[in-house]
Amino acid sequence: MLLDLLTKSMYVIDARHYLTDKGTIATERGPARKMADFVTSVIAHASDKARADTTPRPTCFKCRKRDDRRVQTAVTDDGVVVWHCQACGTHGRITHWQGTFWDLSAGMPSD
Ligand SMILES: [Zn+2]
Repeated sequence: MLLDLLTKSMYVIDARHYLTDKGTIATERGPARKMADFVTSVIAHASDKARADTTPRPTCFKCRKRDDRRVQTAVTDDGVVVWHCQACGTHGRITHWQGTFWDLSAGMPSD
């Protein structure tokens, strides 16, 4: 049962599905756009090694009406962006994000 729940709340996302050839978000509006906005903010947050601790974490796309809905993000050793929402248990993996507009790992100008 627990495994069922974990599987249902696990998202495996290929970032290329949300992007056009030019690297912009492919969908203009609706649920897919909401998901695309979440995915890209998670990528930017997770890949930004120079980010300050005070940088707001992305908001979980599943539980907007709850209080503690900001997700934790990380990049695994094998280069997969992962996120986890403690409020609702939703978590996921994002692949093929490297080189997208939201990939900040190459180093943005920082001061
Ligand atoms: Zn959530």
